Amino acid sequence: MQLSAGIPAFASLLGQKSAARGLGTDYDVIVIGAGVAGLAAAERLVSLDSDLKVLVLEARDRIGGRVHSVRHQSSTRDAELGAMSLTQAQGRDWAVTDRLGLNVDEFPDNSLGLYPGMAALVRALAESSTGRVQLDSEVREVFWREGLVGVSYMNRRLSSAVTGRRLVVTLPAGVLRSGALSITPALPSSKLDALQSLSIEPAISVAVLFPGSHAKLKDATQPWLYEDSTTRLRAFSVSVDGDVLLEAQFRGSRADALSEQSESLQLSLAIRAFGDALESLPLLSDASWTGTADWLADPLSLGAATQVGSTLTHLEIASSMGNTVFFAGEATADPAAVGTVHGAYDSGERAAREVALSLNIESELDFPNEPVLELL
Ligand SMILES: Cc1cc2nc3c(=O)[nH]c(=O)nc-3n(C[C@H](O)[C@H](O)[C@H](O)COP(=O)(O)OP(=O)(O)OC[C@H]3O[C@@H](n4cnc5c(N)ncnc54)[C@H](O)[C@@H]3O)c2cc1C
Repeated sequence: MQLSAGIPAFASLLGQKSAARGLGTDYDVIVIGAGVAGLAAAERLVSLDSDLKVLVLEARDRIGGRVHSVRHQSSTRDAELGAMSLTQAQGRDWAVTDRLGLNVDEFPDNSLGLYPGMAALVRALAESSTGRVQLDSEVREVFWREGLVGVSYMNRRLSSAVTGRRLVVTLPAGVLRSGALSITPALPSSKLDALQSLSIEPAISVAVLFPGSHAKLKDATQPWLYEDSTTRLRAFSVSVDGDVLLEAQFRGSRADALSEQSESLQLSLAIRAFGDALESLPLLSDASWTGTADWLADPLSLGAATQVGSTLTHLEIASSMGNTVFFAGEATADPAAVGTVHGAYDSGERAAREVALSLNIESELDFPNEPVLELL
């Protein structure tokens, strides 16, 4: 591919890369981020045109982003350190779960989860897309002009670069506004202002698994659930031996206060919150597995979820640059779905449509006619 002299830094980077490795990589679409939005965009694009060459670059060593389900070998279900449920889908059917053949888990409070965990969604999206997902690939710089993008990233400490015709950026809003990703030409000030105006909620998640010999649910026949404005708790019996999984999410001011504490104190305080669910409070030292996540401190998230702003704000963040660089992610969703899993999915689907249109893909109108949320 001929590179414009207008982007000499990228031309030189690609030159170095080609000289060093003899590679000449070209994709139709490069997607940054393998969370729900990025994987949905890739899966939808490949479903439109299976010949499209799509590459998803993900900084972490796993897919899912803020959907982070972790399984301990003795447990029948995943522990959620990220999203717990399809929040906005309460009492509704999500057509996407049917299409992807996912097992929907209905809880006593009518919230809907996925079994064995929320990561089933991202796994299904990744598996049903023939696009390539490359992990451990943190994108550092993007150079673009109409119809051409150059992306440089670090892959296992090696600097690599790749070109594409279109780019879909799905970085969390907190990361995008932090400037961690350098984009040339830069984001317009209207988009930067919109990003700066967003309020992004902190969250700390804690999960603890206890052997049945050390913890007992008062009622092991169904999940125990609790929710208030800053705390969400779930307790499950998760094995034939009666092992107990405790999941706690602390948001807002409670997350701010906890972030000052050590991990072991966070875990102990979380266990204490389950007093109403358990026959007696177990000791942290008796746990067979623990997990924590501080989403505000995580440099690849810089927050748990965007708070809803004005429609114009979210539209501005979603708007494309030069019909070449497109944006998806929960912060670009319709305000009714901002900050949610299905909002992230919708935004990926919307970005896929925009990219397809810009590439004159005829089958653009052949998207399955499925409302993402459908009233029962
Ligand atoms: C604790 C918690 C609880 C939640 N609970 C719920 C809930 O119950 N229901 C609900 O609907 N929603 C919930 N949410 C929100 C929901 O998880 C998110 O809205 C959704 O998962 C966001 O998806 P996304 O694709 O927009 O972003 P992400 O999942 O953040 O994906 C972005 C991806 O980009 C990657 N990335 C970042 N920087 C780079 C880079 N430079 N190069 C390459 N890759 C990069 C990240 O690693 C990440 O994988 C919760 C979130 C959290 C954190």
